[in-house]
Amino acid sequence: MTQILNAKPVVQAMKENLRQDVAALQAEGKAPTLGIIRVGSRPDDVYYENNIIKNCETVGIATKTYPLDLNISMEEFTAVMTQVNDDPSVHGIMLFRPLPPQLDEEVIKHLISADKDIDCMSPLNLEKVFEGDMSGLLPCTPAAVMAILRHYDIELKGANAVVMGRSLVVGKPLSMMLLQDNATVTICHSRTRNLPEVAKNADIVIAAMGRARMIDDKYVSENSIVIDVGINDAGDGKICGDVDYNAVVDKVKAITPVPGGVGSVTTTILLNNLVRACQSQ
Ligand code: NAP
Repeated sequence: MTQILNAKPVVQAMKENLRQDVAALQAEGKAPTLGIIRVGSRPDDVYYENNIIKNCETVGIATKTYPLDLNISMEEFTAVMTQVNDDPSVHGIMLFRPLPPQLDEEVIKHLISADKDIDCMSPLNLEKVFEGDMSGLLPCTPAAVMAILRHYDIELKGANAVVMGRSLVVGKPLSMMLLQDNATVTICHSRTRNLPEVAKNADIVIAAMGRARMIDDKYVSENSIVIDVGINDAGDGKICGDVDYNAVVDKVKAITPVPGGVGSVTTTILLNNLVRACQSQ
């Protein structure tokens, strides 16, 4: 019987811990507060912002929003970012991306205070991950995958993990985190030869390619633990993962669903990073 690695119990357990951490901070006179910077009003940004605010409320985190004009200049944007960086009542910053073309993300990622960088934009925080230091603010999606693996007691020591995708947002940092927990990691990408065979022989298969339902039964075995990071347009108004869930669900040892898997844990990691940031400030 395949084990379904649902996000719900992972999120519940994390939120319970967060409520306790927030209460402890409040008892010290600190009010953990997230600053959300949004440029323009893209519907998905507004939707995500409302979702984050609601999630913050469930654990007692306060929010401050900074809605900015879509045409804001780099100079004006820098002034806002500096103000939020310097505001001691804001402990973490979330900036929605992509940004409009006049705002240079390459500059901004160096501008954000590394101590408040809860979405792990700053190269300083990513560098720590590549050095094997997981004590800082971790990139949310890779950390969500690790939270699921930990919650379901999936043994990483000595396990063969195949990560499909080598982006700096997901594949590369996730590979470093798995390596740090003593998995033997193979990083695959669009030029990898015999990908189905490489994946089929792994204990843990992580799909992060952005290719809707690409992973079918050729890529898995009855021993596979499948983690689906993909969030793709399924074409019917719904989302789907990089894994063809229906084709493999009965043929693997364990699998994360989409929706209700990795993506659902990601926001809670953001809250976790905010609380960690507040604790260290
Ligand atoms: P990305 O920057 O486009 O990177 C995709 C990676 O997959 C690249 O390394 C690419 O290889 C590789 N790839 C593409 N097609 C492939 C193929 N046919 N075979 C093998 N490898 C292939 O994407 P990303 O930002 O990492 O996101 C990946 C997926 O995760 C997307 O579906 C995205 O929506 C989702 N995502 C989910 C969350 C979440 O919270 N769950 C967060 C972020 C992203 P090359 O390097 O050779 O091009």
